[in-house]
Amino acid sequence: MKIRKVLIANRGEIAVRIARACQEMGIKAVAIHSEADRYALHVKKADEAHSIGADPLTGYLNPHHIVNLAVETGCDALHPGYGFLSENATLAAVCRERGIRFIGPSADVIRKMGDKTEARTAAIAAGVPVTPGSKGNLRDLDDAVKQAEAIGYPVMLKATSGGGGRGIRRCNDEKELRQNYERVISEATKAFGSADVFLEKCIVNPRHIEVQVLADSHGNVIHLFERDCSIQRRNQKLIELAPSPQLDEAQRQYIGDLAVRVSREVGYENAGTVEFLLADNGDFYFMEMNTRVQVEHTITEQITGVDIVKEQIRIAAGEALRFKQEDIAYKGFAAQFRINAEDPKNGFLPSFGRISRYYSPGGPGVRTDAAIYTGYEIPPYYDSMCAKLIVWAMDWQELIERSQRALNDMSIFGIKTTIPYYQEILKHEEFRSGSFNTGFVEAHPELTQYSIKRRPESLAAALAATIAAQAGL
Ligand code: ADP
Ligand code: ADP
Ligand code: MG
Repeated sequence: MKIRKVLIANRGEIAVRIARACQEMGIKAVAIHSEADRYALHVKKADEAHSIGADPLTGYLNPHHIVNLAVETGCDALHPGYGFLSENATLAAVCRERGIRFIGPSADVIRKMGDKTEARTAAIAAGVPVTPGSKGNLRDLDDAVKQAEAIGYPVMLKATSGGGGRGIRRCNDEKELRQNYERVISEATKAFGSADVFLEKCIVNPRHIEVQVLADSHGNVIHLFERDCSIQRRNQKLIELAPSPQLDEAQRQYIGDLAVRVSREVGYENAGTVEFLLADNGDFYFMEMNTRVQVEHTITEQITGVDIVKEQIRIAAGEALRFKQEDIAYKGFAAQFRINAEDPKNGFLPSFGRISRYYSPGGPGVRTDAAIYTGYEIPPYYDSMCAKLIVWAMDWQELIERSQRALNDMSIFGIKTTIPYYQEILKHEEFRSGSFNTGFVEAHPELTQYSIKRRPESLAAALAATIAAQAGL
């Protein structure tokens, strides 16, 4: 079936990214927006845009309403992006009922892999090692204490339906487990609508390694190598790298095979990501599968040349994958910096507001996937990530140098961002050596204590531009 018109059930940079893929394929793109997003970039980039109500959030979260709109506007497919309803099985099911192709896996697979304990069971069935943990969900606090004893402290108490780094607490002993138990349940209920929690052994200072997979409806499954997302703050990714500078070729092949095995086991279709933890002793453990496009899919695109969003659309249209595993190679290194509207010096406090001036970086190997422009007012209702800077280079050393140059090139005035913090990370020997774990950010609080030294010429240029703008020149 040919896809001619796609409804993008998302906002921000990922909605812009999807619209770009549609444009290249000659497909019409329909945007949806809240009133707060009336002037958002994704609205400008789509062929059509429709308001989904005054409330900043409810419109983006109503599957029935959104699918109705897809039918009314003559769309034949829907792309959910990431976040929002992207891992909501109801959206996939409603699409199917209404004759709209869902650009993602089936509702059953989303439901199964969205439940972390079920996903663990599937990984075990595929012969893939999982982090030692509780048998399914915890019944009550007594059960938690008993199972934690058997697993051995420290343990991670995790929300079964969790995502986005929330609903996870490390417990070093029984006292902490007792303190955290109700807290995580209440967080999980509020954020994910489910009170289910389970335990995993805490892998101390692991690397977060994840594998991008593509699977079509004809039984072909391939992987596009791994990404290293160990640079995280509070379990949320900040900088991502592809390939991981911490794996050798044998490990790379091993983990790619594991990801394909898990995907096959559950009858996966479309693009997905299998996440693993790599322990100090070299052991890999399956952690979870994300059944959608990921924020950091970009760096895999840069090293393999595969346009993942376009492949997602082709797969949803029923096409067979155009690549076999042996056709996929990678070249060089890529990094993605999540540019968040936050003030790292001030506990990463959100910093929303008007972007008085924005200079996008360029030059060799530099890509920006952004939702901002000069004059854009970042609304306070959504995720603080407002842009992604993606850098590609031939080798690790050049990647670091080019990233420093590109971050320096990228100027955002009017709000605080994570750019200066990333400059500090890039100077740090541990990062530069290519050997770091998920504890890096917490271990180096001093990196947030930079002082911003603006180059005088750029300050002067900005001032001159502001004066010119105000004088109507
Ligand atoms: P990725 O796994 O692609 O790196 P993140 O974990 O950063 O993505 O999540 C991307 C976005 O989706 C963030 O805005 C995050 O808060 C949101 N998100 C991810 N999973 C969930 C979930 N299960 N429930 C609610 N929001 C989620
Ligand atoms: P989410 O669905 O929110 O992305 P994940 O299960 O993928 O949650 O975990 C997010 C992050 O939390 C991981 O990248 C890792 O840094 C940390 N983490 C999760 N489980 C463990 C564990 N068992 N041991 C150590 N760190 C963990
Ligand atoms: Mg995860």
